[in-house]
Amino acid sequence: DAFLGAIETANPHLNAYVAVTPDKAREMAKASDERLARGEGGALEGIPLGIKDLFATRGIHTQACSHVLDGFKPPYESTVTANLWADGAVMLGKLNMDEFAMGSSNETSYYGQVVNPWRKEGSNKALVPGGSSGGSAAAVAAKLCMGATATDTGGSIRQPAAFTGTVGIKPTYGRCSRWGTVAFASSLDQAGPIAHTVRDCAILLKSMASVDPKDTTSVDLPVPDYESAIGRSVKGLKIGIPAEYRVEGMPAEIEERWQQGIAWLKDAGAEIVDISLPHTKYALPAYYIVAPAEASSNLARYDGVRYGLRVPGKDIIEMYENTRAAGFGTEVKRRVMIGTYVLSAGYYDAYYLKAQKVRTLIKRDFDLAWANGVDAILTPTTPDAAFAPGEITDPVTMYLNDIFTVTVNMAGLPGISVPAGLNSSGLPLGLQLIGKPFEEETLFQLGHVIE
Ligand code: GLN
Repeated sequence: DAFLGAIETANPHLNAYVAVTPDKAREMAKASDERLARGEGGALEGIPLGIKDLFATRGIHTQACSHVLDGFKPPYESTVTANLWADGAVMLGKLNMDEFAMGSSNETSYYGQVVNPWRKEGSNKALVPGGSSGGSAAAVAAKLCMGATATDTGGSIRQPAAFTGTVGIKPTYGRCSRWGTVAFASSLDQAGPIAHTVRDCAILLKSMASVDPKDTTSVDLPVPDYESAIGRSVKGLKIGIPAEYRVEGMPAEIEERWQQGIAWLKDAGAEIVDISLPHTKYALPAYYIVAPAEASSNLARYDGVRYGLRVPGKDIIEMYENTRAAGFGTEVKRRVMIGTYVLSAGYYDAYYLKAQKVRTLIKRDFDLAWANGVDAILTPTTPDAAFAPGEITDPVTMYLNDIFTVTVNMAGLPGISVPAGLNSSGLPLGLQLIGKPFEEETLFQLGHVIE
């Protein structure tokens, strides 16, 4: 009731929730109370969570914040949310996001801009919460839930976490099942939590992660008790500092936070080493080929026949065209066009195949660091703090927001963003820790030292 009340008060301004489910929340909370009274219960009994609109929730609004999915209420539940409910969590509602998770500012949502609860000191001007999981990050930051699900294809958990002073982890590709999560770029998409603390993220990820026969890319490995990593000594861990993440035009304040993070880890007994990830500069262009290519294929299913919106036409082809023209926003159309282009005959080898080769090189850079004894890598999460809606109008400049985050998705690695203090305008900045495949524990261990 406290969270539902807080949502009622703050959501009209923040626009973090696109659907609130009070009846469902009370019903789930009651069932949870009953389990606890019987002395039963899971790890998340009664914990109220917000769910990104990308996760299918049975009988409840699931539209990936797109007009094309108008009225869609799936007859099934995503594996990630099913896992959370099985552990006793309570659903408060569905969270706003960039349409089909394409964006870095939440400006592409059909449901309108999410407002970041943070303001520059002395200013009343609204800021973006980052994206695409902007609703998740804003809802956590404004205490409109105790934690939220989110997804990260090229930074969409970590960048909004950095912009809102929250913690977000993208686990290793394969850690969480993608079944029932609306697909954007299937070889990059991963679910993960956004929460207030590293510990909360550890507890939530433990519940979300599972091998799933319905997703052949989910991995059959035991899910460790992540929470037990919190407070474990980081003495002797080797932390790599990649030279290539020092980009031109990055504000001195970001570099300062980075140095501060290095100092904190050193004080805690970690060893700092300089490393090189030479193919970093190709990650962003390669990402913006691979992600739109997969998106154009995944989004072919929205044709007015199977889901949501249908705009009639004189024949079936015109119905498809009218539906897709009316149903998709500008950014989604841009991605579908780029993706269709790079996959078309004659261009496939030049663009898509080349990008996949670049991806292998990026992964090898990381493999070499691990082979040299590096346990984790520390970088800034974003090249700057939150900006104002409408401030970035050029798509390529917007894509630059992902410059430090996309490498992790391209290589399938786990990455966490932890709050690392404020800039001179009083806005939160985040530091990112990148880990070895399936070693999320190391990230929780190190992240807790920084937060
Ligand atoms: N901002 C990136 C994009 O628009 C990443 C999105 C994501 O991680 N879902 O593609």
